[in-house]
Amino acid sequence: MDKIACVEMYHVRIPLDKPFYPSWIPGYPQTENRFDLVRVITESGVEGYSAGPAIARERAGLGTLIAPYLLDMDATDLPLMQQRLREMSYLGIRCHWIEPAFWDIRGKLENRPVYALLGGNPVPVELYASTGEVKSPRDRVSEVQKRYEEGFRCVKLRVHDFDVRQDIAQVEAVAKAMGDKMKIGVDANQGWRVTIVNDAPLWDLPRAKFFADACADLGVSWIEEPLPMDDYEALSALTAYSRVPISGGELHSSGLPELKMMIERRCYSIFQPDACMAGGIGQVMEVTRLCRKHGLTYSPHTWTNGIGFAVNLQVFIASGFTESKPLEYPLNPPSWTVPKRDGLLAKPFFHDNGKLEPPKLPGLGFEIDGRQLRKYGKRFFRMSKLGLKLFAVRDKGIRTALEIDRNRRRFGVKARP
Ligand SMILES: [Mg+2]
Repeated sequence: MDKIACVEMYHVRIPLDKPFYPSWIPGYPQTENRFDLVRVITESGVEGYSAGPAIARERAGLGTLIAPYLLDMDATDLPLMQQRLREMSYLGIRCHWIEPAFWDIRGKLENRPVYALLGGNPVPVELYASTGEVKSPRDRVSEVQKRYEEGFRCVKLRVHDFDVRQDIAQVEAVAKAMGDKMKIGVDANQGWRVTIVNDAPLWDLPRAKFFADACADLGVSWIEEPLPMDDYEALSALTAYSRVPISGGELHSSGLPELKMMIERRCYSIFQPDACMAGGIGQVMEVTRLCRKHGLTYSPHTWTNGIGFAVNLQVFIASGFTESKPLEYPLNPPSWTVPKRDGLLAKPFFHDNGKLEPPKLPGLGFEIDGRQLRKYGKRFFRMSKLGLKLFAVRDKGIRTALEIDRNRRRFGVKARP
């Protein structure tokens, strides 16, 4: 047992060298790699980290919700931590992004990487270069050729045009230029469509089938999120119809229950839950087991930031699916580069010829560079156990605060009622 002594949260903003135009938010120039970092410190001084992508300062008040749920709990009791996150979610705030920090702590206490805790073997991982912007066929071909020269043998394109013929033209240009040298995946980013700046195309089943037929003829390896993430019926119909495997499932914030149902309905052939977004490492590991049981494949979404990549790398290695499909490696130079993506990590995850060796460090496999955190991070929340007592007195008054404290100590803590 190692109890949680302190919870800290940082808002991190790493400026990009050039604006990045993500295909999934048409018309929006992203100028920073922006995320919130959580640091959980135990009584023995072990630090666990995790991170969640941020739009603005939407988590500014979140510390006063999460710290009282977590402080003085056993950080190594992962079912208990899952239960606490579940309790936090009842009023609509889902915090799965915090859960990997407890695996980080447990790995550091046992001096083993998280994938080893989960029963995985230290195998090298093949990566695919995941592009992030929509491009003209000509620009896309030259981008893919660069990735090929860097050692990648698999790439994922982004399509997001109102005219399906433009989408197909881009895929066709790359398929013709690269031949058998490069496997191609295509992400339509229809799962969680965003129209906050510009409008975005909205696919339906006939368009998805038409696109899937064209991709099959061009030898595409998988099509990602061609339909809304909760249109289960259409997804199952498309997966049954398509000659190209259909993938998705990255941001299902309700986690395992919904993903289990989608596996049973065969909504996708390849499931891609992101362990920072879709239930934490514990629930996503269960998803990987269900995929295996049902003869399906798993390969996670990783496009958030370097810490999110590290988390999903651990789960991918643990899953035993490393032979089935390469792992997403977000890369869109000159804007979204490895130093910017992994800007807080002491050692960024630079690929070697499109591959990565399994991390050797205990826990999630990275160390935070304190200098970089001071430079790009701003701490906006800190609460220790003493801080919680003072907070409770201020928030509830001394009588109620003392009563809660007494009751809590008398009944102890349980993962399950
Ligand atoms: Mg995707």
